[in-house]
Amino acid sequence: MAERPVYPATWGGNPSPEVNEARFQKLFDEAHAMAIQGYLPDGTVVYWNHASEQMYGYTAEEALGGNLLDLIIPQDLRQVVAAGVRWMFENGRGIPPGRLRLRHRDGHRVAVYSSHTIVTVPGQPPVLFCMDADMTELERAESELRIAATAFESQQGMMITDAQGVILRVNQAFIRLTGYSAEESVGQTPRLIQSGRHSADFYGAMWRGLLATGHWQGELWNRRKDGEVYAVWVTISAVADDTGRVTHYVGTQTDMTQHKAAEAKILHLAFYDPLTQLPNRRLLLDRLEQAAGSSPRNQSAGALLFLDLDNFKTLNDTLGHDIGDLLLQQVAQRLTACIREKDTAARLGGDEFVVMLEDLSPRLEEAANRAEVVGNKILAALNQVYRLNEHEYVGSVSLGITLFPSQGSSVEALMKQADLAMYGAKAAGRNSLRFFDPQMQEAVTLRAALMSGLREGLSKREFRLFYQPQVDSGGRLNGAEALVRWQCPVRGLMLPDEFIPLAEETGLILPLGQWVLETACRQLVAWAAQPHSAHLSLAVNVSVHQFNRADFVDQVLATIKRTGANPRRLKLELTESLLAKSIDEVGAKMAALKAHGLGLVLDDFGTGYSSLAYLKRLPLDQLKIDQSFVHDLLVDPNSVAIAQTIIALGRTMGLGVIAEGVETAGQRELLARLGCHAYQGYLFGRPVSPEAFEQLLVCQ
Ligand code: C2E
Ligand code: CA
Ligand code: CA
Repeated sequence: MAERPVYPATWGGNPSPEVNEARFQKLFDEAHAMAIQGYLPDGTVVYWNHASEQMYGYTAEEALGGNLLDLIIPQDLRQVVAAGVRWMFENGRGIPPGRLRLRHRDGHRVAVYSSHTIVTVPGQPPVLFCMDADMTELERAESELRIAATAFESQQGMMITDAQGVILRVNQAFIRLTGYSAEESVGQTPRLIQSGRHSADFYGAMWRGLLATGHWQGELWNRRKDGEVYAVWVTISAVADDTGRVTHYVGTQTDMTQHKAAEAKILHLAFYDPLTQLPNRRLLLDRLEQAAGSSPRNQSAGALLFLDLDNFKTLNDTLGHDIGDLLLQQVAQRLTACIREKDTAARLGGDEFVVMLEDLSPRLEEAANRAEVVGNKILAALNQVYRLNEHEYVGSVSLGITLFPSQGSSVEALMKQADLAMYGAKAAGRNSLRFFDPQMQEAVTLRAALMSGLREGLSKREFRLFYQPQVDSGGRLNGAEALVRWQCPVRGLMLPDEFIPLAEETGLILPLGQWVLETACRQLVAWAAQPHSAHLSLAVNVSVHQFNRADFVDQVLATIKRTGANPRRLKLELTESLLAKSIDEVGAKMAALKAHGLGLVLDDFGTGYSSLAYLKRLPLDQLKIDQSFVHDLLVDPNSVAIAQTIIALGRTMGLGVIAEGVETAGQRELLARLGCHAYQGYLFGRPVSPEAFEQLLVCQ
């Protein structure tokens, strides 16, 4: 047991007034943080202890004899203080203590808690004693508390727990967020709001993080009082005391529900087609990557189906985009109905849809069979009548299928394969289905190579014009047809059938055709310079694409002018496909050419469907009987009839007639008997180089 302290004797009993006086004097003088001053009724300072010196910045020497109001009372308080002082002396007692903000010598305000008392000693004037306690620290603490309290009531849900996790306090936002009142929450643990969506492991990791670093943050699913699960961003901080021992945890949670909704919306926009709600190309490629990219071993094969609506553009153009959109939406619904949950139907854009069938069978053949079954189901479903507002529509689709995984085929390659197969299906006729086969791929690769080769060939001048003789009934050479050849460094000498169609598709026919025309003109000029060849005419083939150009006539005329060729020796061979365009337009161009002396030949005549009424309105010079009829003349009476009709037609219309592909004397004789006296064909000469043609002329 601790011993009781022994007080000096002088503290007990009744000390003498002198002792008392000295004792209190010392006490007053040395009292820490308690500024004590004495004032006379007029405010004159008669006492100023050490703490006053500290608090107000005046030494006792400076303060004594000075005036209260001048020294420490700020201007705005002087009247009040003067009145208070007066009141206290009049009433002989102090006013109740209170907070004041007085003035330090350097001008700053000093927060004090001030008590007052009037001390009256007989025979002496009364003195007002003021005892001021410094409130600066206290006020700072108070304001910090206020800030903390305001912060605590922020928009974030907050809770404070003790070290054991028992909730001590929650704020209003917490109450709003969770639906639990303060009474319901305090005393509970945060388990109150756990959603059950996170595993014990998850919470274990959270606690380990919290203990190790004193901090944790992350996304959590919590549960409201009404049972609704919501997403929050949570931060938890441990509060430790001086010794580092955790005393509290402060947890904040920010509602993420709206973020989540926005996130989901953005996700949806990024990965789904807004019109049909089907996955878009991005998502499809993503899923395909996963399905086709995973290890081919022990993997079940899947299929990629490419669909293209036949005639969709026509529907769009005739009934409008709104109706087109309706169709696309219904197609999407039907597609989705045809496939399993784990399959994907996606829209690539326009009228292109892709279906990805996963996990069909480990055996490729069986997978192909199953894909075909689904494909046929889709064809049948999409072939049903569509009701598009007041319109009824029957559509068909072309469907291409490729299987995956396939050796070394990237996702892009797979898409390409299915696309190719789809084009194969389209070419095979409406509403059909095609599997991709590697030959298709080869053809495409070849085509691509040919295309770049053509372009290069044009700039490297790899093309040549060959000339095939044209003769009259006496066998005299009176002209030639110019036939283009491509001296390809890789493939050798190429015939036009191998590259003209591609050149037409790619537009390369325009520069190529121009080159042919120019070369033919120069040849005419060369022939004109020699007496034995000056009479020759030259026929040049003109593709529809060239002829349809608005500036075609100008280009031809400019070329003739530039080369100096005689237009009367130049013939243009046109085909009946030309007549698909407006007859007026075609007729006007022909007339313009003819006005400059050019000859116009209708090539391959008899194979097209040109109406004779049309023919009459065109300023033609010559009809060329197609070689297919000439070829069959001696074996097919029908061909004879056709040849006969053409010859008769030419005669009535005043047009010349030439037969091409004449290979035998028999054919020539029959033609002559029918009334055709101009010929071209192997019987008279094959297409040959300009040098060889020169030889022919000389030998004549
Ligand atoms: P085309 O205008 O009908 O040309 C006649 C084709 O028949 C030529 O084939 C010619 O070599 C071939 N031929 C000529 N006589 C006989 C014969 O007695 N028997 C057989 N079996 N064939 C014969 P080529 O040169 O391969 O040209 C094929 C087609 O390419 C041409 O058919 C023409 O449509 C097109 N073409 C050729 N040169 C050009 C050109 O410079 N521009 C354009 N746009 N097309 C051209
Ligand atoms: Ca021709
Ligand atoms: Ca021809």
